[in-house]
Amino acid sequence: MATLTFYGATEGVTGSAYLIETEQSTVLLECGLIQGRHEDEEANNDPFPYNINQIDAVVLSHAHLDHTGRVPKLVADGYSGPVYMTQPTRDLLEILHMDAASLQMKDAEWESKRRRRAGKPEVDALYTTDDVVAALKQYEGLPYRQRQKIADGIDICYRDAGHILGSSIVEIFISEQGVEKKLVFSGDLGNSDAALLKDPEMIEEADVVLMESTYGDRDHKPMDETLEEFERIIVEASSNGGNILIPSFAVGRTQEIIFHLGQLYHKGLLDQQAVYLDSPMAISATEVYERYQYTFNKEDSEEINHGGTESLSKYLPILKYSRSTEESMAVNKIAAGAIVIAGSGMCNGGRIRHHLKHNLWRRDAHVVIVGYQAIGTPGRALVDGAKVFKMAGEEIAVKASIHTLGGFSAHASQTQLIRWVNQFKKPHPRLYLVHGEPDAKKALREKLKGEGWEPEIPHMGQTITI
Ligand SMILES: [Zn+2]
Ligand SMILES: [Zn+2]
Repeated sequence: MATLTFYGATEGVTGSAYLIETEQSTVLLECGLIQGRHEDEEANNDPFPYNINQIDAVVLSHAHLDHTGRVPKLVADGYSGPVYMTQPTRDLLEILHMDAASLQMKDAEWESKRRRRAGKPEVDALYTTDDVVAALKQYEGLPYRQRQKIADGIDICYRDAGHILGSSIVEIFISEQGVEKKLVFSGDLGNSDAALLKDPEMIEEADVVLMESTYGDRDHKPMDETLEEFERIIVEASSNGGNILIPSFAVGRTQEIIFHLGQLYHKGLLDQQAVYLDSPMAISATEVYERYQYTFNKEDSEEINHGGTESLSKYLPILKYSRSTEESMAVNKIAAGAIVIAGSGMCNGGRIRHHLKHNLWRRDAHVVIVGYQAIGTPGRALVDGAKVFKMAGEEIAVKASIHTLGGFSAHASQTQLIRWVNQFKKPHPRLYLVHGEPDAKKALREKLKGEGWEPEIPHMGQTITI
């Protein structure tokens, strides 16, 4: 009898991990990083709660670290088998895992210094860039919509989830004693109103479904309202001449913003001299997006290709890449008329902080918040109306206009989640809600009960049969 055990993303949205075991094989579905409060993140250093030597294959749904971020540790701890993912996910992970490793090394070095001074033992990074280089050899990219054997009695097939480039819904076919059962793991489902990517694929058959529920309790603000507001801010900023800063995540949101700025450019509404993408990681991620532009939705790819522009970056002709520190410092010196996209998305690190330092005190500058800002981050403080921005001991007065656009989201809304799961034919498969805060999961469960479903909310460590 095949079983699945929930090892993560049960109480919240991070640390995704599900272990599938049959008489013949063991497959680990996702190996995500726990993200959030410092105390919770400590658990990333704990030994894995399952036997690594028994795992035959690892399967990943998409590149986000809360789904993949512990894979290099799994390999460093001794896992030597294949790690399956889609091809774009593989390319993105080369960037994301290297970046995660260098951040972890920097953090560990800082913490060790502090501990040495206090007479305490030093700490090791969760994994190093060398660990990532070694792990990458085991990463294997598969195409969408092609069934592939990954272990004895277990096949998978990747379907497009439309959440970030390369994201997937995973169909898992499990055969035992001549009987085949099908598990569908939703991964993170995309927002069908978002630009560039396709809508999540609809799947009609399954015995068991694991569905994410990040926005299980709410719908997004309509996308057309968000885009109108975005246009209004850009036009207003250009009339008073100030710079516009857009803190953004390197993968996904940045590419959507480039596309929307391209739309404004082609409407003749972008008076700014230049849009600077001031982030080596976001530039590399944009190049990966361009390599797989054939996975974009038809409407947006036609718009990008209209008039002979072949790529997303060329669709916005005033887009300039700034990779080196010198280039970034030159952007710092521009007093007006520029749009700067830089990370980190929540302003807690990265080059955006230098741009905030040079612009927040200017009355004609604008900061446009296009992504989620967690409580306690500097980005959230700006959204909440902070009058002073603290940076490396310096206090910067906030005189710039801060605009918050809540409508951009890479996740399916409550209505979209319900529409997706209702595509499954009756009798309904068994449904488990994962990857959501407790309130979001409960609200979604109640809604789905009204639609004839009997959704379950699994707890950490729970084992179910498939
Ligand atoms: Zn995700
Ligand atoms: Zn996620």
